[in-house]
Amino acid sequence: MNETEPKIRLFIDAPLQEGAEIGLDRGQSNYLVNVMRLEAGAAIAVFNGRDGEWRAELTNAHRKAATLTARAQMRGQEPLPDLHLLFAPIKKARTDFIVEKACELGCARVQPVITRYTQSDRLNLERLRAHMIEAAEQCGGVSVPELDAAQPLGTILADWPLPRTLIFCDEARTALPMADALAALPRGTPAAILIGPEGGFSPDEAERLHGHPATLPVSLGPRILRADTAAVAALALAQSILGDWTA
Ligand code: SAH
Repeated sequence: MNETEPKIRLFIDAPLQEGAEIGLDRGQSNYLVNVMRLEAGAAIAVFNGRDGEWRAELTNAHRKAATLTARAQMRGQEPLPDLHLLFAPIKKARTDFIVEKACELGCARVQPVITRYTQSDRLNLERLRAHMIEAAEQCGGVSVPELDAAQPLGTILADWPLPRTLIFCDEARTALPMADALAALPRGTPAAILIGPEGGFSPDEAERLHGHPATLPVSLGPRILRADTAAVAALALAQSILGDWTA
């Protein structure tokens, strides 16, 4: 087997240990054998979100049902930052963008939230998860964030686990700038970012959020950002101040 660093990374849903054989599905087999034109003996990096990253060898280059064999662990499992992203689904392409960026910027859980002004139709969770897997493969992550089914904001607030700070991105411009608001929290504080839909939060939702004991309202500056921009900006700030963007 070729010992150079594998260029291709694949998420697989199978246990990884030395000698483990991994049967690939049609899509992954097609990608490796037909698209990337790999032959038996080629090295691929694989991860499953539990066992770290492994060097695997393509042991059967079948075009529709290829097989890999796990050879050696290259990296141990690393935890994702204890940061959640809660967002109101928006148009399809922008929702895809949000989940992809959440994965790249780093968070452990993505929770779609239905609010009063949420306009988007039903979410295709499988498709969103496929986007997240692709992002994790591409960005070198060894885990894919959890993706939850959409839930109404009221349910989420009623069931909120209190030690988790609810970073409420509030476009009303009365909140502290996000970096200042987070400065008082120790790195590693469990937190969740909440981003509203294009129509923002309704007055009663905003009131309910302000009255919730876990809420920390924050501002992302004087301009109203699109929800997808707000999600990326807030994730970057939270990661930098609370998360794993450390030296
Ligand atoms: N239609 C609303 C804006 C919604 S923007 C209005 O005109 O007021 C979508 C979401 O992005 C908001 O609900 C909020 O969570 C976030 N957001 C956008 N700009 C923001 C800002 N400057 N500060 C904090 N949050 C912001």
